[in-house]
Amino acid sequence: MKSRREFLCSLGGACVAAVAGPGFAQDVAPRGTMVPVEEGGLAPRPAGWYKKLPEEWVQCGLCPRGCRISDAERGTCGVRENRKGNLYTLVHSRPCTVALDPIEKKPFFHVLPGSPVLSLATAGCNFDCKGCQNWEIAQARPEQVRSFTLTPEDAIGVARERGAPLVACTYTEPTVFSEYVLDIARAGRGKGIRTVVVSNGSIQQQPLADLCAELAAYKVDLKGFNETFYRQHTGGELKPVLETLRRLMKLGTWTEIVVLVIPTLNDSMEEIKSLARFVVNDLGPEVPVHFTRFHPAYRLMNLPSTPVSTLERARQTAMEQGLRFVYLGNVPGHPGENTFCPGCGRTLIKRRGMALLENNLKGGSCPDCRRKIPGVWV
Ligand code: SF4
Repeated sequence: MKSRREFLCSLGGACVAAVAGPGFAQDVAPRGTMVPVEEGGLAPRPAGWYKKLPEEWVQCGLCPRGCRISDAERGTCGVRENRKGNLYTLVHSRPCTVALDPIEKKPFFHVLPGSPVLSLATAGCNFDCKGCQNWEIAQARPEQVRSFTLTPEDAIGVARERGAPLVACTYTEPTVFSEYVLDIARAGRGKGIRTVVVSNGSIQQQPLADLCAELAAYKVDLKGFNETFYRQHTGGELKPVLETLRRLMKLGTWTEIVVLVIPTLNDSMEEIKSLARFVVNDLGPEVPVHFTRFHPAYRLMNLPSTPVSTLERARQTAMEQGLRFVYLGNVPGHPGENTFCPGCGRTLIKRRGMALLENNLKGGSCPDCRRKIPGVWV
C-alpha cells in the first residue's frame, strides 16, 4: 500500500501527465493506470440505496439498471457486491486515478473559471460506451487496476495542499461510487472545498437528491438524442438521463451539458435541433451546452475525428433554437471556447483549450451592460 508521501509524489506525476497531455479539453484520465492490483486492493464498505430480497438476494437502487444480485455476485458496474444478503461497495476511498486538472477540462465553463480541481475516479461504470476515452478504468473491475487508499478527509486535505477549491469525481462514472462522492462532499463542507461530478446522468431519484444536497455542480454527458443510439452505443437508455436533467433543475443544482459529437452516429442537425429544443423548453435557455470533438477511441477506431465544420453547425443550430451559452470543445483556439454576453455581445471569458486567458466578469455580470451571467462564480 502506498504511503501518503508516495501518493503525493505520484499525484505530482499525474498532474504533469494531465496538463501536458494530448490537449483534449474532454475529461480524459491520465494514462498508464492499467496495472495489476496491489495487495489488499479491495476495501468493502456497506453500500447505500439498496433493498434486501428473499434468499439473500439484493436489489441495487443506485442507477436505473436496478440490478438484482445474488450472494457472492456483483452488479453490472462490477464494483457493488452481494455478501450474504448485504450489498457492499468495493471502491470507497479507493481511487485508481487522481490528478490535478483545470476546471475547464471537465468541462465546466461557468464554475470558478481557471480553478485547479482535484480529479479522481474509481474503477467501474454502469454504461459501456463504444467511444469511451477512459475504458481502461471505466470497464475494469477494481482488481484490474491499481488503486490508492485515499479517504474523503485525505482527498480534501490534498485539494487544500494543492490550492484546489474543488474536487471532481470524474473520468469513470461517479454514480457507481456515490457513497465515496457523498462522503468527499461532506468532508469538504466548512473547509472551503466543494465537490462536483461529471456523470452520464443515469441515476435513480433518491441518490440524485442525496448527492445534490451536497454537490456544487453536476455535469451531464448527454450522449445523443435518440434511444437507438443509446441502446446500441452506450448500453444505457436516454429517457432516465433526460429525467435526471429535469430533476437537476428542480433541485437547483448548477448543471452543464456536454455532447460528444461522433461522425455518422449522433451528428445529424435534426438530432442536434431536437436536443437543443429539449434543453430550451425543459431546462431553460441559459443551461450551457458543450459540443465536443470526437477522436477515434476504444471500439470506434474506424471513425474519423469530428470535422470542425460539423461542430460549428451544431453550435449555430443550437443557438438558433434559443440556447445562449453554446461552446465547442477539443478545438483549441476556436472562438466557440469563449463566453459572450447574450445582452451586448462582449467577450466575457476568453479561453484557449484548457487555459483561461481572460475573465472580465464583474460580480457575475457583464461589465458593460450589467447582464447577470448564470453560474458559480464565487
Ligand atoms: S450502480 Fe451498479 S449494481 Fe447498482 S444498479 Fe447500477 S449497474 Fe447495477
